[in-house]
Amino acid sequence: MTDLVIGSGPSGVSVAMALLNRGRQVLMLDPGGRLEAPAQDRRDKLAASDPDTWSVDDQKKWQAPQFDTPPGQVRRFGSDFAMVPGADTLVSPERIGLRASHAVGGLSNLWGSAVLPNRAEDIADWPIGIDDLAPHYRAVAEFLPVSGQQDALQTLFPALSMQDRVPLTPSPQAQQLLQRLEHQKTSLSELGAHAGLTRLAVDPGCQYCGQCLHGCPWGYIYSAQKTFDDLRHHSAFQYRTGLARRFEEHADHVAVTLDNGETLQATRVFVAAGVLETARLFLASSPDPTTGLQLQDSQHFFLPSLHRWLAPRRPDQRPYHTLPQIFIELDDPEISPHLVHAQIYTWNEFFAHDLINSYSSKLPRSAPLWRRLARRLIVAQAFLHSAHSAWINLTLAADGRLVPTVKSNDETATVMEQATSRLAQVMKLAGLIPLRFARRPGDVGSSFHVGGSVPMAKAPSAGQSDILGRPKGLSRVHLVDASSLPSIPATTITFSVMANAHRIGTLTP
Ligand SMILES: Cc1cc2nc3c(=O)[nH]c(=O)nc-3n(C[C@H](O)[C@H](O)[C@H](O)COP(=O)(O)OP(=O)(O)OC[C@H]3O[C@@H](n4cnc5c(N)ncnc54)[C@H](O)[C@@H]3O)c2cc1C
Repeated sequence: MTDLVIGSGPSGVSVAMALLNRGRQVLMLDPGGRLEAPAQDRRDKLAASDPDTWSVDDQKKWQAPQFDTPPGQVRRFGSDFAMVPGADTLVSPERIGLRASHAVGGLSNLWGSAVLPNRAEDIADWPIGIDDLAPHYRAVAEFLPVSGQQDALQTLFPALSMQDRVPLTPSPQAQQLLQRLEHQKTSLSELGAHAGLTRLAVDPGCQYCGQCLHGCPWGYIYSAQKTFDDLRHHSAFQYRTGLARRFEEHADHVAVTLDNGETLQATRVFVAAGVLETARLFLASSPDPTTGLQLQDSQHFFLPSLHRWLAPRRPDQRPYHTLPQIFIELDDPEISPHLVHAQIYTWNEFFAHDLINSYSSKLPRSAPLWRRLARRLIVAQAFLHSAHSAWINLTLAADGRLVPTVKSNDETATVMEQATSRLAQVMKLAGLIPLRFARRPGDVGSSFHVGGSVPMAKAPSAGQSDILGRPKGLSRVHLVDASSLPSIPATTITFSVMANAHRIGTLTP
């Protein structure tokens, strides 16, 4: 019998990689969603030519579907293949930003690719420490490209060396910002702030074509689909499509029932279905149908600013990328005992689009003005630790979907306000005018930095898992996605999910 890995997203490929490296047989299961043929053709056509030869019309057609998504839906490549519509998974998805994926590669087909390891202090209350994760960050970074450079952020995140890594070229606006912050080093450190270039899971071959939020035609932004394609060449790896509905553990195996009624048997099962689908599977397999789970969120907000200085060139002309350019970490116990993590964006096509949509109807013929203003916009997206964020309670409805209920956290408003003030001070140091009135908090779950529903504990009680992600009472079923994280630090989630999945795959008996 083999090990069964449910899911081919970042956590699934990471656990599979570790199991295969130990000489084990792996069967991977996922529902098999892939970019549809016509969209793939459009993508291939763009990728076959130099971005400098693309017409304005080519680009407009490539971008248009992304401006036209239903609320809560994230689309790339003009397709919804990577995100399940909210109502398919959740009864009343309106107030929840989180969604599931049924695609090969999961949500990493859509992600922003920001990657940081955890800071040791932020996981001091976990049953495993940074030394347990560090070798697995390194192992994952063998197949996950991590762009970036050695800079002021390194002392906070020594778990992954940035020596010899290739940085993406930041936009001229980001270069100005970094230079200005460098000149204000002392004031920056008095504010408890650390700034540096982003760490992104992007291949250094990037063409700087600026289509990051519409789908990279060449696939330079990492998707777990890439690692999945590599795994398929391994002789001990097998793959099949199917949707897991529930599992049942027996003395010497686990039986997994698929939605077509078929049953698969495996020595061990590694559940990497993403936190919503894993919750569904876990609750449907629980002997007590009234059981519920509580997801921990890392809430986020957007703070726009305008730059007063002149930039050497426009932010929307090649070469450019529209992923986050700079990370700012706020480290001040008066705001939080944990880091507040901010990502700085200096341009994407939604800047102008959103300004025109929001304001041009109030001021006729003002679109050119908003377009010009958008080019001066700098947007910070800041994330809070789960200790200051809301929870999403989940129970199973009779129709198999999840019933979500948001439980707000009394600390969120205060910590967000303090983090906003501090970020605004940092922005001012860099010559920006922060637009605090325009601050916008994201819906609960919409950061997609969510997990901790069956948190790992040294001595797990009901509703918790052991340090190999095994829920209390089970010995052959491991939850290896974010479900088993004890908490959600603010500093990006996926790299740590991958390292933890790799750790579990390495240590499992
Ligand atoms: C727009 C967006 C931006 C993001 N940006 C970032 C970022 O910059 N940095 C960061 O750290 N994180 C980011 N994230 C979050 C990141 O994408 C997720 O943390 C990551 O994809 C989780 O990986 P996973 O393998 O645990 O789950 P998923 O990626 O959700 O993969 C789940 C897998 O399980 C399969 N599956 C689902 N249900 C079943 C089932 N019932 N049976 C069998 N297989 C099943 C799916 O097909 C898929 O293969 C972002 C997410 C989004 C949507």
